[in-house]
Amino acid sequence: MKYINVAINLPVKNLFKQFTYAVPPQLDHVDVGWRVVVPFGYQTVEGFVTSLAAAAPAEYECKEILATLDTRPWFDAEMLATANWLSEYYLCSPAEAMRLFIPGKTSIKRQAVYNDEGKLIAYDYENKLKIKTRICFVVTKAGREALVAYNKRLRAQMHALEVLAEAERPLSGEELASVQVSAATLRILCEKGWSERSEQRVLRNSYANRTELKESLHLTDEQRQAVEAIGSAITEPHQETFLLQGITGSGKTEVYLRAAAQAMEAGKQVLLLVPEIALTAQIVKRFQAWFGDEVAVAHSKLSQNERADVWYKMRTNSAKLLIGVRSAVFAPFSDLGLIIIDEEHESSYKQDERPNYHARTVALKRAQLSGIPVVLGSATPDLESFYKARQGTYTHLRLLQRANGSMLPHVEIADMRLELQRGNKSVLSAALNDALLQTAVQGEQAIVLLNRRGFSTFVMCRDCGESIVCPHCAVALVYHSAGEAMRCHYCGNTAPIPDECPNCHSRRIRFFGTGTQKAEAEIAELPEIRILRMDQDSTVKKFAHEDILKSFSSGEYNVLLGTQMVAKGHDIPNVTLVGILSADSTLNLPDFRASERTFALLTQAAGRAGRGDRAGHVVLQTYDPDNPVIKLAATQDYDAFAASELEIRQELGYPPYTEILKITVLDKEEVRGSSLAQRIVNFLQTLQLEHPEQELLVLGPFPAIVAKVRDLYRMNILVKCPQMELVKRALWNSEFKECRNVFFDVDPVSV
Ligand code: ADP
Ligand code: ZN
Ligand code: ZN
Repeated sequence: MKYINVAINLPVKNLFKQFTYAVPPQLDHVDVGWRVVVPFGYQTVEGFVTSLAAAAPAEYECKEILATLDTRPWFDAEMLATANWLSEYYLCSPAEAMRLFIPGKTSIKRQAVYNDEGKLIAYDYENKLKIKTRICFVVTKAGREALVAYNKRLRAQMHALEVLAEAERPLSGEELASVQVSAATLRILCEKGWSERSEQRVLRNSYANRTELKESLHLTDEQRQAVEAIGSAITEPHQETFLLQGITGSGKTEVYLRAAAQAMEAGKQVLLLVPEIALTAQIVKRFQAWFGDEVAVAHSKLSQNERADVWYKMRTNSAKLLIGVRSAVFAPFSDLGLIIIDEEHESSYKQDERPNYHARTVALKRAQLSGIPVVLGSATPDLESFYKARQGTYTHLRLLQRANGSMLPHVEIADMRLELQRGNKSVLSAALNDALLQTAVQGEQAIVLLNRRGFSTFVMCRDCGESIVCPHCAVALVYHSAGEAMRCHYCGNTAPIPDECPNCHSRRIRFFGTGTQKAEAEIAELPEIRILRMDQDSTVKKFAHEDILKSFSSGEYNVLLGTQMVAKGHDIPNVTLVGILSADSTLNLPDFRASERTFALLTQAAGRAGRGDRAGHVVLQTYDPDNPVIKLAATQDYDAFAASELEIRQELGYPPYTEILKITVLDKEEVRGSSLAQRIVNFLQTLQLEHPEQELLVLGPFPAIVAKVRDLYRMNILVKCPQMELVKRALWNSEFKECRNVFFDVDPVSV
């Protein structure tokens, strides 16, 4: 008997332990890396074979596996090693880590198989994924011989054989009909044994036919040097990480394209990660123009089946280049040769639910295991990446000039305190007001950014100062004019606007803050303005972002107003003005990355202006004009910002100088949650005493900033340590790792 160790995928439990199963003879092909169906307690569940076992276990009865879920192992050696590392690094169970590699949720469908007498003989298990297939035809050996012998009287059959023999792949009936091979002829060929039917998988492509023409540019010197450096790690493959730091408009995309072309010419596959597909439609189009059908796209709105098709294409090497969001880092490849991460500083690469992986960290691990290069591109690199580049761990490539020779925009700071003193209560400073008018008159376009986080419209009582909060979460409800209602941004709960204050019963209720809708109304009142709004509320449909951007770049509208998402990636030459309504609203969030985020956002936003042949102008409105981050953002001087911010990080003990682990305990009962959190803290403090050399720091437990979400109380513990391995290992060996209400956020993007 063959025995295997299986990681059980049981989402309701945090099962770290693996179980040994026996393999019945008819499933003898099962080996490490296969997905299997196993009985577990009273359930039938998905499992992953992690290793072979020498013998049946002594402690429990050994059951047999029931079936396999695929026709080949899902995990190759590299993927298994990555999954293994993931589970240790991010403190999640092996199955949880392995699940990340599989598109969609698995729900096992059991189909009974009966014999002729109606007796149940077996069960067939299949995954819910629907694989589309079609019948195709291939030529057989006998068919080839018949073709060589060539019987002139069988004209139609010989023609059909010729077509089949010349084809490089099985052809469908439809394809054959288009070259005058009839279904009747095919039937005869099959009867004679000259052709065979074969079932072929049909791959859906939701991005088909969205192509543009390839445009070839003469590379600038800086671009050429970058391409050459990356090329040397492709032609003589080895792991090397490049930080491609290029100012906005410096032509990073062009470098990605050439690097990808080199890898593909060497017969390798390429993975390009982007923060969000809808916002990077331009990049996708550029790649499709260059590489056509070789490109597969995996955005977050793909259906489970479409995603499975994309994964299949990559695994079978029928596509060479995968463009995808965060989760694409788990795609299977046949021969991966290069990973590119665009806008590598974006926080959307971090998954904010368990397991809280970071796609960049995972990509670097996979690259290390496969010995291939990684390119990290950004105008405002993550400080940790910048630090590693400066240290020499990464190769630092820089693009200091805009590729088409245009200049960085001029940034003007508008002091909103002065505006108030002058009696201006509008969301627009006089400067931005004038600039918008002028832009419209000149037939040019503007982007207006409302830095919304922490700046939304909330409802407050004028008498007692109480704001109206969600009864389930400890946050203020946000006013939405669309349905004349207030909504909680954490749990989605909506409530009508009350006539009186629930606290003091005063009827003097007021709206505070400036949401996009309010800003839209104000800007729309200016003459000559055709305004278009882009935010979460207006972008729920599948290609909504793209449609909005299309109507804007076509010139149908001349002002694009929105939240963070208007700041990123677009290259629209007619945009000459960028207005930033509230530059500092994200600056004072209690988060060590607040400055870094704000700087990146402001720089990215400013970078949208003046990318064509006319100079750009940016108006940056702030209540805090002397803030060093605002000043540095105005000069768009990343290096100066990085230098000062790194100093602060070192002083306060934040990454990249230390590693952070955030532990969150959730509980319906506050007291019970606190006591569990306290036990974890005690555990860590013991570790601290035993290992003074580790410089371990344990903070908390304290209530989270939003202390209650969906009726669950949240308690946080913050662990800081220059090297977190020991802490992770201790937790890994503790009871806490299996608690369903304890969440480990390794390398959190915000604390
Ligand atoms: P980034 O991503 O670095 O902000 P893009 O890749 O979007 O910059 O390029 C900015 C603009 O410069 C694009 O319109 C692009 O077509 C153009 N561009 C890129 N490389 C060159 C080049 N070598 N010569 C002329 N124009 C270029
Ligand atoms: Zn809520
Ligand atoms: Zn009140």
